[in-house]
Amino acid sequence: MDTRISCTIDLDGDGFRRGFLVVPHSRDDSAWGSIRVPITVARGGPGPTVLLTAGIHGDEYEGPIALMRLADQLERVRGRVILLPTANHPAVLAATRTSPIDRLNMNRVFPGRADGTVTETLAHYVLDHLVARADAVIDLHSGGRTLDFVPSVVMHDLPDPDRHARTRVALLAFGAPLALVLTELDAAGMLDTAVEEQGRLFLSTELGGGGTARPGAIAMALRGLRNVLRHLGVLQGEPEPPERPSRLVHTPDGCFTVAAHAGMVEPLLGLGEAVAAGQPLARVHFFEDIGRAPVTYTAVRDGLLYARHFPGLVKRGDCLAVVACDL
Ligand SMILES: [Zn+2]
Repeated sequence: MDTRISCTIDLDGDGFRRGFLVVPHSRDDSAWGSIRVPITVARGGPGPTVLLTAGIHGDEYEGPIALMRLADQLERVRGRVILLPTANHPAVLAATRTSPIDRLNMNRVFPGRADGTVTETLAHYVLDHLVARADAVIDLHSGGRTLDFVPSVVMHDLPDPDRHARTRVALLAFGAPLALVLTELDAAGMLDTAVEEQGRLFLSTELGGGGTARPGAIAMALRGLRNVLRHLGVLQGEPEPPERPSRLVHTPDGCFTVAAHAGMVEPLLGLGEAVAAGQPLARVHFFEDIGRAPVTYTAVRDGLLYARHFPGLVKRGDCLAVVACDL
């Protein structure tokens, strides 16, 4: 089977169009129902195609807002821009990271399945019908309800030196204050991995989090997206140089602090603050065991506090903090 999903607009002709991906979804409250995922395309003659996605996790808001804002500003493009602001639309409707229909994390099911569940079918369509048309993909993320990040643009540490160098130029063209070269904890099933395996240019972001959106992060994302579109020749002009060159960081072993205790988190550092190895990052209090001493988690490396657990309570195994180190 090719796909069960249809698209209400032509993705290949010149012009600006908004429409929907239609995913059949017969269910208790809608017998012949479907899910309609908004999609926008702008095409102006020959040139590269850039696919911009957000909302693969349904509790991240900066990316979808930046893509909706960008769509309103896309006038003359050379080549094509495809925008999918709420890729996992059922998850966005439910304000949850995973889909309420099949409980799948869309960024762990790529390459997806044409005859799979709703999330798998959507992932398959994104890869086989949208990524297949694209020369470059930017997938916008943030921390969602459980993490908060210093707004940043992200690439992977790619083994091929040419592809690494080409991706790094695009990373710096984005012009974010912080640019991360990341080694994933668990890269299987990610859109990132699927796109990179096909040799296409891939960038991501972490734009904040906490299950909300903040004005500075959205502005940074919009400026960065326009800069990369200029860098790729899809928008006219040169990328706007940032006030200061991006600070390049990475996350070698020891940068991720995982909670070994459940309890109440007392953050000891703000996001973006400088950290020295051995410095306390957070304290976990045992609020049910009155009198038991709290546990302090310390940094293993020098750097800056890049991400932190967002809710006030932490469970064993949660990501408590991430330190990023200068490259
Ligand atoms: Zn995400």
